[in-house]
Amino acid sequence: MKINENYLELSDNYLFADIAKRVRTFKAEHPKVDVISLGIGDVTQPLVPAVLEALHKATDEMGVATTFRGYGPERGYDFLREAIVEHNFRARGIDIAADEIFVSDGTKSDTGNFQELLSADCVVAVTDPVYPVYVDSNVMAGRSIVTLPCTAENGFVPELPKEHVDVIYLCYPNNPTGTTLSHKELYQWVDYAIKNDALILYDAAYEAYIQSEKVPHSIYEVPGAKHCAVEFHSYSKTAGFTGVRCGYTIVPKKVSARDADGKVVSLNALWNRRQCTKFNGSSYLSQRAAEAIYTPEGKKQIKTTIDYYMENARIMREELAELGFKVYGGQDAPYLWVHTPNNMTSWKFFEWMLHSAHVVCTPGAGFGPSGEGYVRLTAFGTHENTEKALRRIANRL
Ligand code: PLP
Repeated sequence: MKINENYLELSDNYLFADIAKRVRTFKAEHPKVDVISLGIGDVTQPLVPAVLEALHKATDEMGVATTFRGYGPERGYDFLREAIVEHNFRARGIDIAADEIFVSDGTKSDTGNFQELLSADCVVAVTDPVYPVYVDSNVMAGRSIVTLPCTAENGFVPELPKEHVDVIYLCYPNNPTGTTLSHKELYQWVDYAIKNDALILYDAAYEAYIQSEKVPHSIYEVPGAKHCAVEFHSYSKTAGFTGVRCGYTIVPKKVSARDADGKVVSLNALWNRRQCTKFNGSSYLSQRAAEAIYTPEGKKQIKTTIDYYMENARIMREELAELGFKVYGGQDAPYLWVHTPNNMTSWKFFEWMLHSAHVVCTPGAGFGPSGEGYVRLTAFGTHENTEKALRRIANRL
């Protein structure tokens, strides 16, 4: 039995395991110290009441023969797909049809799996720093990867590739930098994709955190995107579904690729075929829970939670800037990208934060070479811990 050798090409991504190990060691040596994590990418606030109510109701339905649900429709229940069309797209003047939506168990699986539809010789471009799933899933498939550095020098806006690429992963608002692209910047990518017969895989997992009127919530706000872009959405950070699991992917019917003979193939049809074979849906409970965020109460309640996190982001941004740090992001995203002081490496600053301020951050170098010299802080903590962490940093400087 031989393995897929591509797996051996994966870099040892021990980032979060490495962080956890260093924190464990520190805590063992300093058992009385209370360590605060600003490194976590998981949410801390509970599900909102509208979601809980929907979950309870759906659970009761599952216990009665007449309302029990077994396997659901492959693309997701109509009630959820119609709510998505109405509230996430039509309300913004974007025309997406329900059969262009595929409900999933979250964005990690879909961004990781979508590449299966593409030929192994496709050249893939990713921004650097990057959410590692895009890179690793393509390395597993043996593809070559082009990186597009995003640094303070270019305002964290990736430049168009010099060589031809077939696929481009974009994630905005961005994890880890917390930065966004304007309509105009996004248009350049759509234009590139159309002119170069390329596909954009657009991860909009943090779309709900956008505060500014000007920042696009969806790539489909840009003319032409329905011909060249697939978009991924997640309820994880939108509504605290990291444990519930639900998301959705838009594969417009106009997005196509070619087979070896040059014949045009619809990616919507191919993704449907792939999902029908390998995926059995997000649970009825999760989909009813997701539907509840589109009710007037649900909308209000999830906004309160998002505002809670964004208040953390605002406090962090302002106080760190006042302390003299160069801080990016955190305005339309729950992530702050902080330049390390005195040219410290990401890991050196991580150690300083842990040992001096007893605060955990995420070393930027773990997200790619252009992340060196930065750390990522998240706004997903409680107000109390966020403020306490900032006081400690201020006191130790
Ligand atoms: N995409 C990005 C950019 C993320 O940062 C994350 C989670 O941290 C995900 C996707 C995963 O989302 P989900 O929980 O829906 O799988």
